[in-house]
Amino acid sequence: MKVLLTGITGFLARRIAHDLLAAGHHVRGSLRDRGKGEAVRALMPEAAAHRLEFVELDLTKDDGWNEAAQGTDAVIHTASPFPIMQTPADPQTIIRPAVEGTERALRAAKAAGVARVILTSSVVAVENGPRPEDDRPRDERDWSSADHPNANAYVRSKTEAERAAWAFAEAEGLLLTTICPGLVMGPPLGDEAGTSLGIIARILSGKDPMVPPVAFEIVDVRDVSRAHVVALETPATAGRRFLLVAGKMWFADIARIVAAEAPHRGISTRTAPRLLVRALAMMDPALRGLVPVLGRNEPISGEKARIELGIDYIPPDDAVR
Ligand code: NDP
Repeated sequence: MKVLLTGITGFLARRIAHDLLAAGHHVRGSLRDRGKGEAVRALMPEAAAHRLEFVELDLTKDDGWNEAAQGTDAVIHTASPFPIMQTPADPQTIIRPAVEGTERALRAAKAAGVARVILTSSVVAVENGPRPEDDRPRDERDWSSADHPNANAYVRSKTEAERAAWAFAEAEGLLLTTICPGLVMGPPLGDEAGTSLGIIARILSGKDPMVPPVAFEIVDVRDVSRAHVVALETPATAGRRFLLVAGKMWFADIARIVAAEAPHRGISTRTAPRLLVRALAMMDPALRGLVPVLGRNEPISGEKARIELGIDYIPPDDAVR
């Protein structure tokens, strides 16, 4: 298949491009800056690098989208603003590009007669809503809501973009699958780590005397890429949503693994009391986003992807390591 893959410079999309090429597909990767293309090509399987081409696209501009989708068989849309540690003054600086970029990708698919679309959504579009009534683990049936205490700009951007995609696909008859990964760990291709691995870089810096009492859903980038490729190659996954969660880990558990790998960095694995984080967050805006999730560790299930996509999850400890 020939696939338009948006955001090919990203941590996740570099891996998806690699795996698509290794599986024999052709990839038209979109980037904002064509100058970054050759560095991406150098990371691809050598024998397949000629099946990779680039196109310039920006989520916030109309230019080039329809042409980019022409002649392809499917669109995998991963590009989205991803400011994990920052809270912008105006949430729309994140929400608008995410939602409008998704609409541009789906409109381009429709205009080019491409029915198959895979969208990278996120666990944050699933877990920040009302608790399931029967106390079951959260899963693909659940949706985040704008009035939830943790509905920050990024949460809203992913939730609204995915909702917009489902609405468009239903109205226009597109065959959409959405993939909702937890925090993506695992080995980056190339030197650029990507946003989520910033957490590991922060721990490695050894500068924090304690870590916050926050739990993450972990999944390895190799499994997330595989889920996109399997979804693409399996028409029966159209109309379905898949959560990708290998397991949950507290920040301190992640720090313990990193500390064991880098014993000379003085990495602290002590968990800060919630009250202390709350007090610090009043002075430090960078910590404010943590307050609604302090101590939160609700059950969530990535089983559907295991069963229906055949994802035999890499254990979270290995992903972090
Ligand atoms: P990266 O930050 O590594 O990649 C983000 C990509 O989006 C980059 O290619 C970036 O391009 C592109 N992008 C951002 N803004 C624009 C824009 N205005 N126009 C065009 N391209 C843009 O993140 P990841 O690879 O980790 O994330 C990929 C996807 O996975 C995102 O949709 C993210 O929300 C989702 N996701 C990631 C998780 C994680 O833990 N990593 C967890 C769950 C979901 P450029 O290089 O030009 O900046």
